[in-house]
Amino acid sequence: MRVFLDLKWFFKQERKAYILGVFFLLLVACLQLVPPRIVGVVVDEIIENEITVASLLFWCGILVISGLAMYGLRYLWRIQIFGSAVKLARQLRETLYTHFTKMTSSFYQRKRVGDLMAHATNDLSAIQQTAGSGVLTLVDSLATGGSVILAMGFTISWKLTIIALIPLPLMALLTSYYGHLLHKKFRLAQEAFSSLNDKTQESVNGVKVIKTFGQEKEEVESFRDQAEDVVKKNVAVAKIDALFDPTISIIIGISYFLTIFFGSQFVMNGEMTIGDLVAFTTYLSLLIWPMLAFGWLFNIVERGSASYQRVSRLLEEVPEIVDLPGSIEETPSGEIELNIQSFSYPNETVHALVDINFTLKKGQTLGIVGKTGAGKTTLLKLLLREFEGYSGTLMVGGSSIREYKLEALRRAFGYVPQDHFLFSSTISENIAFARPDAAPEEIHKASQIASIHEDILQFPDQYETIVGERGVSLSGGQKQRISIARAILMDPEILILDDSLSAVDAKTEEEILSALKNNREQKTTIITAHRLSAIQHADLIIVLDHGRIVERGNHQALMAHGGWYKEMYLRQQLESLVEHGG
Ligand code: ADP
Repeated sequence: MRVFLDLKWFFKQERKAYILGVFFLLLVACLQLVPPRIVGVVVDEIIENEITVASLLFWCGILVISGLAMYGLRYLWRIQIFGSAVKLARQLRETLYTHFTKMTSSFYQRKRVGDLMAHATNDLSAIQQTAGSGVLTLVDSLATGGSVILAMGFTISWKLTIIALIPLPLMALLTSYYGHLLHKKFRLAQEAFSSLNDKTQESVNGVKVIKTFGQEKEEVESFRDQAEDVVKKNVAVAKIDALFDPTISIIIGISYFLTIFFGSQFVMNGEMTIGDLVAFTTYLSLLIWPMLAFGWLFNIVERGSASYQRVSRLLEEVPEIVDLPGSIEETPSGEIELNIQSFSYPNETVHALVDINFTLKKGQTLGIVGKTGAGKTTLLKLLLREFEGYSGTLMVGGSSIREYKLEALRRAFGYVPQDHFLFSSTISENIAFARPDAAPEEIHKASQIASIHEDILQFPDQYETIVGERGVSLSGGQKQRISIARAILMDPEILILDDSLSAVDAKTEEEILSALKNNREQKTTIITAHRLSAIQHADLIIVLDHGRIVERGNHQALMAHGGWYKEMYLRQQLESLVEHGG
């Protein structure tokens, strides 16, 4: 039941709705006592031959009025309590989503997407149930149960009430035992569901690879195994769940037996009237619902508390990279001074970067090259403050990047990642992602710089063409260029192209680079590339190998040096000559 304490903040926040809801529930509980009592009175009047049309009409009138009142009140408490529970889910969903957006790369490296989705869907709905049906069953089982027992005792017979309630402690014992079992099984079922979520997501994302390698059958089989596991674990939950109702029915059955057995003797002794016994058994039937509700309560609360724990644990994760107190609001601009002694990824022992230092003046272009895995992207990630934990300094415009507000830092960088991502919306919305208010002319200009404008004009709806799952499928090069246009539209102080020209041909690459040069005066550009033609005009080129700078200088200096750069450059020249039939 601790989950109700955990949710205290919410009940406080929605105090009015819950007080009203509970009040209406209590009224219904009281009104429910009326009909059985009337049945008892009418039965006695019949037996005593006292019944008249007038008295019958009177009792029927009261029955109708109490029925109508219960109808209205039941509607009202549902609105209050279930309505509030929906608000809880909404609030938690928003909190969770905001939390997700604050978390840094290392969080997403540790967590599986399927898990996060299970938290945001299944867990939240279990918590919502606790705040809705949980509160209902708690109040209702206590209020209805309590008032019925009091009515049986005070208005009929305490002796018979105590006899009828003898089996109750047994029920409490059994339901608490089942509840405990349920908690464990439910957690396992939720975990299996998370894994299935993961699997589905991965298979859908990787469907092209699966098909290309002809692995459909294996995939379907492994999916079936996981789905089977989810079924098995949910069946285990259902098996325990299924124990509740029969147990309660048996216990109520025993109560009925005891009531009839002893009640009829009391009637014969003259301790009770037949009407009393009829009213008593009708009251007993009113106890079935609160007892069932009590069983459900365990079920709902166990699920809710397991889910609340999972969501809380997730919300407790603090983002590692946050604004320092008094951080600079201005957009960073100016010289980049990088002096990193070493950096390793979290939980890794090997250094990903060692002794990296360079200075890049405002408006200059830096080219970073090197073999795959040399550390190029890592260097960019540090610059973007996606990871910290390096020794050394990383300054932009004379201040460490840690001293800037994260928002200001993000404004300074236009980043085109290697694995570009387009949303399932129009091309124009994709390009204007960081500046939704951009005028169409600005969007067209950015597209022209990125050499994608002409391509876009060929699409059926031009800039309004939907891309992604629901729209046209674009080539890798087109996607890359749309991502570049998106970054260019921000007109960032520092533009970063992380191997983002890999899928365009040499001619287009040249067009983009020269357009960038003409349109980004006094703005810094950083380019990583495998094709050296993309960086040969850079003011400074650094060659990385195993996280270290092994060569540096401009194109001429590196060619004169005669190392990896020269060898690579000549080889690529030769390849391009061969490609063009030279
Ligand atoms: P490049 O961009 O030059 O191909 P990266 O910067 O991506 O190279 O990778 C440099 C090294 O860091 C590689 O050995 C890679 O395995 C490792 N690495 C990259 N990203 C991570 C990460 N998120 N966690 C741990 N190691 C990583």
